[in-house]
Amino acid sequence: MSQIPFVDLRSQYLALKENIHARIDKVLEHGAYINGPEISELEGQLATFTGTRFAIACSSGTDALLIPLMAHNIGPGDEVITTAFSFIATAETIALAGAKPVYVDIDPKTFNINPELIEKAITPKTKAIMPVSLYGQMADMDAINQIAKKHNLIVIEDLAQSFGATYKTKRSGSLSHSAGTSFFPAKPLGCYGDGGAIFTDDENLYKAMKEVREHGSEKRYYHTRLGVNGRLDTIQCAILLAKMERYPWEIEARNQVANRYHEGLSHLKYNDFSTPFVEKFNQSVWAQYTLTVGNRDGFQKKLTELGVPSSIHYPMIMPDQPWYKSQLDRVSDWTNAKWAANHVISLPMYPDMKPETQEIIITNVKKALEATQ
Ligand SMILES: *Cc1c(COP(=O)(O)O)cnc(C)c1O
Repeated sequence: MSQIPFVDLRSQYLALKENIHARIDKVLEHGAYINGPEISELEGQLATFTGTRFAIACSSGTDALLIPLMAHNIGPGDEVITTAFSFIATAETIALAGAKPVYVDIDPKTFNINPELIEKAITPKTKAIMPVSLYGQMADMDAINQIAKKHNLIVIEDLAQSFGATYKTKRSGSLSHSAGTSFFPAKPLGCYGDGGAIFTDDENLYKAMKEVREHGSEKRYYHTRLGVNGRLDTIQCAILLAKMERYPWEIEARNQVANRYHEGLSHLKYNDFSTPFVEKFNQSVWAQYTLTVGNRDGFQKKLTELGVPSSIHYPMIMPDQPWYKSQLDRVSDWTNAKWAANHVISLPMYPDMKPETQEIIITNVKKALEATQ
């Protein structure tokens, strides 16, 4: 049998091959590699899809968070409250903007920021809250927005893992002042390189973010603010346009894969073992299907021996990362985040997973649990 991939981009490419090539060929013919017509076409589709007034394509998920921070004028002297448990880009962009990340512990069931702990972290310097929609499911945005409103704070959602997810009836990206997603190839919607997008309903902010994306220029060679080179290449937009047609199906398919994992694994009883929990009001896009297990290192080693790839998102909480630790001026209780960092492990997840392949994965997960727990 061929090797089981952790993410299968090849089957997806083969399913979309004709469209992708036709879209890329069009760009090669017109030659507008930067700021080509595909940019606004994609931005229109992204805005419609998320239910926001404006979308801005940009160069990465990291820039999709940095650009809103810069456009909101968040910088030195400001604090931004975020989760302790995320990919480093979340805290990195806050620091790049010149502000201080202030880390809050997570809800141990969803792995997202615990809204009940946010108010305690607010100081006169707090400017914004940056919740992360980890593993594809959104944080409790109503609770977060209520706190933000009460304290007059900006909310910027990091939806790098949840493009297309819903909270109650609304899509990820549409429940905050601004929001940034990633099109890194392995994310739920990925391009063939680095890419990202920003969402907002606020027209002034939209204009400011477009300027920041383009070297802070209001018009050509006239720079009214500090900016970055944060554009998305036209070819990447072309690839995303081809992929967008299939994406609603892929969200369904990802949910079917998650359901099959749930049926196969959720009844198992081991110490510290759990399958993912999704809030009733959420629909996840399953950027990751993440278990917790007791003896994680032993379990992962056994899984690898059995030919099942796995990955750990993330082995360390952000405030424990060496550079970030050196910048801390406040330690807080991150018990649940630390526990997660020591127990989470993600299984292969992609929309084109065949039921036969998934059967093999589930059988081997059970074997590895039996052997190590
Ligand atoms: C991937 C990711 C990012 C950064 O996206 P890039 O496109 O890799 O720059 C930011 N936040 C989270 C939670 C992510 O998973």
